[in-house]
Amino acid sequence: MTIRDELAEVVAARGTGLIGDWLGPLEVKQDVLAVLHAGRNLLLEGPVGSGKTMLAGAVAAGLPPIRFAGCDFGCLPGESACPQCRSGVVRDEEHIVFGAQRLMRVQGSPDLVAEDLAGDVDPVAALEYGALDVRALRPGRLLRAHRRICFIDELNRLSERLQNLLLELLEEGAMTIGGYDVRFGVDTVVVATMNPSEYVGVERLSEALADRFERVRLDYPSAEDEVRILRSRAARDAGDRLDADPPPEAAAAIVAFANALRGDPDVQTPPSVRATIAAYDLARSRRVFDGARPWGDAVRDGLRLAFRGRVVLAAGTAEAERVDRWLDGRLRRLELAL
Ligand SMILES: [Zn+2]
Repeated sequence: MTIRDELAEVVAARGTGLIGDWLGPLEVKQDVLAVLHAGRNLLLEGPVGSGKTMLAGAVAAGLPPIRFAGCDFGCLPGESACPQCRSGVVRDEEHIVFGAQRLMRVQGSPDLVAEDLAGDVDPVAALEYGALDVRALRPGRLLRAHRRICFIDELNRLSERLQNLLLELLEEGAMTIGGYDVRFGVDTVVVATMNPSEYVGVERLSEALADRFERVRLDYPSAEDEVRILRSRAARDAGDRLDADPPPEAAAAIVAFANALRGDPDVQTPPSVRATIAAYDLARSRRVFDGARPWGDAVRDGLRLAFRGRVVLAAGTAEAERVDRWLDGRLRRLELAL
């Protein structure tokens, strides 16, 4: 069974429940599932915090477990399709890999080189067999994506050279590695992400490569929908740990604050929907054990606690104190009708 067959099966069996943890419009979920069911490569486009990585992880987690022979090439037990298996230099025992681990992750970056994706020479094996012996090849991430989903985060940060390498794999379903006279079949589906092209440091995606992907745009939910997501949580809670009856303004204030940060040029990583949910839960928790705390202060407490570990400011990176100070300033200026 190919990974495409496995994906089609799991999509048919689970439907939108497969990606139910991703909080977004139903039509977008259906687009994602249609692409996966058709066995095509998926390109998720959307801002930081829109849940692209989480969505890819949920898809992989839905795959069935698989038993591997223990080589670096993803052979099944007894299959012996790769140079390591054929020459008896398998490095690991037979083992089962569960769905969540069937995701080979590639972090797109200008520093990534062809050896990372295709492979390089293992110096120890090279001493034993010679550098040009295929047994000395240490497979890169694209070869190790065999029978897994190949998740390429920030596809448009791959250099043109690496984009061409990936294109070869997508066109042929196989790769040749420079210097070796062997073609490696790679059974994979690529799920890639891309930030909107106005972000700095991105390469243009070549037309040939773009043509190999179906592009689905993810976005933050509308403010109205996000408030509804938050309020539906309060409706579900029994009220022992979290206040089950917060004023409607609490959810609205949290979402409005998050949306202000999402449009703020000072912010590199804005709060996700998960972050607003956390802020809402924390504010409600605060009210339960500290009933005298006014709602406005509880909301500020929740926002501070939930956002300071998630929000990353532009220019400098996460120097914790700086994020804290910046957030405190914003929260002090936040006017709440609570
Ligand atoms: Zn093998």
